[in-house]
Amino acid sequence: MNFEIPDDIRTKLAELDEFIERDIKPLERENMQYFDHRREWARTDWENDGQPRHEWEALLHEMRRRADRAGHLRFALPKHLGGQGGSNLAMACIREHLAAKGLGLHNDLQNESSIVGNFPIVHMIDAFGTAAQKAEFLEGMITGEKRVAFGLTEPNHGSDATWLETTARRDGDDWVINGAKRFNTGLHNATHDLIFARTSGEPGDARGITCFLVPTDLPGFEVGHMWWTFNMPSDHPDVSLKDVRVPGSFILHVEGKGLDLAQHFVHENRIRQAASGVGAAQYCINESVAYARERKTWGKPLAVNQAIQWPLAELHTECEMVRGLVYKTAWMLDRGHHMELSHLVSMANYRANRLVCQAADQAIQTHGGIGYTRHKPFEHIYRHHRRYRITEGSEEIQIRRVAGTLFGFMGGKG
Ligand SMILES: Cc1cc2nc3c(=O)[nH]c(=O)nc-3n(C[C@H](O)[C@H](O)[C@H](O)COP(=O)(O)OP(=O)(O)OC[C@H]3O[C@@H](n4cnc5c(N)ncnc54)[C@H](O)[C@@H]3O)c2cc1C
Repeated sequence: MNFEIPDDIRTKLAELDEFIERDIKPLERENMQYFDHRREWARTDWENDGQPRHEWEALLHEMRRRADRAGHLRFALPKHLGGQGGSNLAMACIREHLAAKGLGLHNDLQNESSIVGNFPIVHMIDAFGTAAQKAEFLEGMITGEKRVAFGLTEPNHGSDATWLETTARRDGDDWVINGAKRFNTGLHNATHDLIFARTSGEPGDARGITCFLVPTDLPGFEVGHMWWTFNMPSDHPDVSLKDVRVPGSFILHVEGKGLDLAQHFVHENRIRQAASGVGAAQYCINESVAYARERKTWGKPLAVNQAIQWPLAELHTECEMVRGLVYKTAWMLDRGHHMELSHLVSMANYRANRLVCQAADQAIQTHGGIGYTRHKPFEHIYRHHRRYRITEGSEEIQIRRVAGTLFGFMGGKG
């Protein structure tokens, strides 16, 4: 076994550092209102349903454009999409490295936007789309011209997605979709939505759910209530679909096998989020250690108190353990099928999400009153990562997956 980070990944991290300093930090410094204590206020169009402001999204777009020009944005995409076929291990190292730098334009947490893109839907369409779908969507999704959202959750069904109530019925060569979606992220400006609907089978069946690539401007497709969330702005609305008619060519992958796509999507996201969680947790720990060494109480550095040292030492230990699990899982994903490793991805994800929330909370505590202010980034880190304990398959659902493998109710080895 070799636990060293390979040289090519180290070289990439150094290149990214140089790129950030040269091309991203100057832009960030001109737009500090999006990153300092004013961040939620500056990013949010409060009078427009709490949606992201255009200027904020334009800044993120410019960051991605620069990263693409410099050859970083597509790193994890295959060569035929202009990428470098970056491995899962490399992406885990990169995500951790970028998050460990703290808040910044190089790796925005709330928008999940980074100089090295995470493109789960691009990977999905590349793997499962028809030639026509690939031609229509792939390049546009990378450049931001095509924005495809993911509509699985419904008002009555989240964790139990196989119970979804949205249906699609065949009508000649067309399909007619009826139902409702909830927390359909990105629908404030998405051009298309991946709508999961039951086309056969019974509630609870994994088979019989079909995924449709639905243009958001079709008659009957309505974006509704925008949910204001713990971290703002929000782009998580409800959607209703009333007799939305699409041709059969809008099906992504195979009729009845839509959930394969959903698994593909969550595995891509879960391992990247886990790596970011480790990086952000390490950032919170490092900042707390530095502050505790500097801050004096009763005439002595705060850091000399064991009550200050121990929680941070324990978090540091946990960070080391979870990092090892994230790297190992990413390394295995580079060598095996993701469905066989689902339980490891779940372990890495739920423990990293929990860890970063604890580390951000501890950082607030160690910094005292200053830690509670928005002039420090910990509240933002906490509020963002708290989301992942619920959204990418909640903590309980991922533990359920681990238990399913442990007790032999679900597939997966290792
Ligand atoms: C900010 C945000 C963005 C989101 N973006 C998207 C998106 O883009 N697309 C999309 O499709 N969805 C999205 N979601 C929805 C998200 O995937 C769901 O909220 C999540 O899957 C949980 O479903 P639920 O909210 O219906 O909770 P429920 O399924 O009702 O669960 C409630 C609680 O009970 C627990 N629970 C449920 N069943 C069990 C069980 N059998 N055993 C033990 N505990 C259980 C859950 O873990 C949870 O803690 C988003 C949500 C948020 C908050």
